[in-house]
Amino acid sequence: MSFKKSHILILSRSQIILVIYIFTALIILYRYFFLQIVDNEKYKIQAGNNSLRKIVLYPPRGIIYDRNFIPLVDNKPLYEIKIIPEDLDRTNFNYSLLYRHTGILKNSIDSVLHRSRKILGGQFKPMLLKRYIDFDTKAILEESKLDLKGLYFTELPARVYTSACNLSHTLGYLRQVDQYSIESYDYHSDDIIGFSGVEKFYEKKLKGIHGFDLFLVDRLGVIQSKYEPEENYSPIQGEDIVLSIDSKIQEFIEDLFINENGSIILMDPSNGEVISLLSSPYYNLDSFVGPIPINAWNQLVKDKNKPFTNRVTQQTYPPGSIFKLLLSAIALEKNIIPTDWKVECNGIYQFHDTAFRCWNAEGHGEIGLLDAIKSSCNIYFYNLMQKIDFSDWSHEVNKFGFGSMTGIDLPQEKTGLVPDKAYMNRAYKNSGGWSKGHLLNLSIGQGEVSVTPIQIIQLINLIVNDGQAFYPHVNLNQNTEKINIAYKADVWNFLKKSMYAAVNYNEGTAYNARISSDLGSVFGKTGTAQVCSNCDILPHGWFAGFIELKDGRTYSICILIENGGKGSDKPSKIASKIFNYISEMKDV
Ligand SMILES: [Zn+2]
Repeated sequence: MSFKKSHILILSRSQIILVIYIFTALIILYRYFFLQIVDNEKYKIQAGNNSLRKIVLYPPRGIIYDRNFIPLVDNKPLYEIKIIPEDLDRTNFNYSLLYRHTGILKNSIDSVLHRSRKILGGQFKPMLLKRYIDFDTKAILEESKLDLKGLYFTELPARVYTSACNLSHTLGYLRQVDQYSIESYDYHSDDIIGFSGVEKFYEKKLKGIHGFDLFLVDRLGVIQSKYEPEENYSPIQGEDIVLSIDSKIQEFIEDLFINENGSIILMDPSNGEVISLLSSPYYNLDSFVGPIPINAWNQLVKDKNKPFTNRVTQQTYPPGSIFKLLLSAIALEKNIIPTDWKVECNGIYQFHDTAFRCWNAEGHGEIGLLDAIKSSCNIYFYNLMQKIDFSDWSHEVNKFGFGSMTGIDLPQEKTGLVPDKAYMNRAYKNSGGWSKGHLLNLSIGQGEVSVTPIQIIQLINLIVNDGQAFYPHVNLNQNTEKINIAYKADVWNFLKKSMYAAVNYNEGTAYNARISSDLGSVFGKTGTAQVCSNCDILPHGWFAGFIELKDGRTYSICILIENGGKGSDKPSKIASKIFNYISEMKDV
């Protein structure tokens, strides 16, 4: 009985396999019929056995300009070397000449010939030898045409970087199209595709539309002549994009930031335009011929300095004392304290069994809010944080755009983190829970909170415009919406006054960022964000602020130097240099 049962089972299994086989074969046959016969039928020509072969023509991508129409990324032609086996004169072919200029070995040619023999009519078909050779190499090889009979070239558009600035994180790089994009979108296997930055974000605009040439081929696949259809099938170049970036300012800023890891963003706070965006270290876009080769890409991905990471949008940091501005705004808006509320700072603040310190070990003495921002007193803000409901703090901080993307038109933006009660409950579930002591760290931008530099400059833009700011963008013609924080006018005025004091008054932590008052007024706040406690690693240094020029123009800035020490030092000094430079420029 049991034998019979298993016998039936075996039979039904083999039947299932048979059905799968037949089904698969039917699908393959159908696909073959559709591709080889039906598709060809479309182009079938009256003339006997001739049919049409379609050769795809690749469109040049759109050009990317800076705000003054200086081209940043243009196109240059690159070439593929192909070989038609039938035309190759193997006895007189100058293999060493070809190797010298292209690195193509005789072996590679032999294996291409070998492959062609397995294809129907393969000896008449152009077979690919090498991609992405430049114009000069092509010109040299063409001069020796008679020694290289059987070689020919087809053109592929590629990028050329025409400005003196680097801008690699804004512009982005290109890669050979992946299988997913070929299957999901309208791409061909030789296409290149934007893989980061503007090239990726605006891929649809930039890529253009393929064209094709039609050739009459005989039944062996030999091209007889070009076929001229009535319709025009030329490729259509992609749309151009004008960025809000000023390449001159960008170049100046890049020269200031040598051998540092970090970022600088300069914006026009009145409209959300990003004037300059630097993320360091960067990589050299011009070092690749054609799309970035996979081995070079792998090396950059593995680099511990993360040159591919856009540190403005894709890297999160503790905001440090910059967050004191935010706590002040919330406290004033919610009438938690009057502006003349004072705290005694003697350098140490004992909270239960933990000693919290001011950066100034001697203490600031009795201090009010304006001076606490100006001198960046920690102990003032430890005290203030305890007067605010934690849920209110989280809610208000989120309103300013922290914890979510700013929506800048660059790919893969990070959100950072604004902790709330639920988060803290989860984070400290296995370590005895959390207490108010943990919140004191948040008041000075340490602890669980993390932000991106683009979120910090958005905070500055909101302060400049009394609570209204356009979301940041790098495409000059991209209209963005406004973020709106309906705080009282007094709140914004007080913040501005404090930031002015931090830059322009003695003992202001941002004193190094000041410029001559003949040129304009600088407002700012520094931050020095510890990356570990009781360790020798230098903290990250922040400067965030803005300048009001005499002619009415305003620019906001955010500078972050990873492990750059105090924000009052290098970041503030760089801010001053940039403000001076901008004030000398007539217009941006
Ligand atoms: Zn203090």
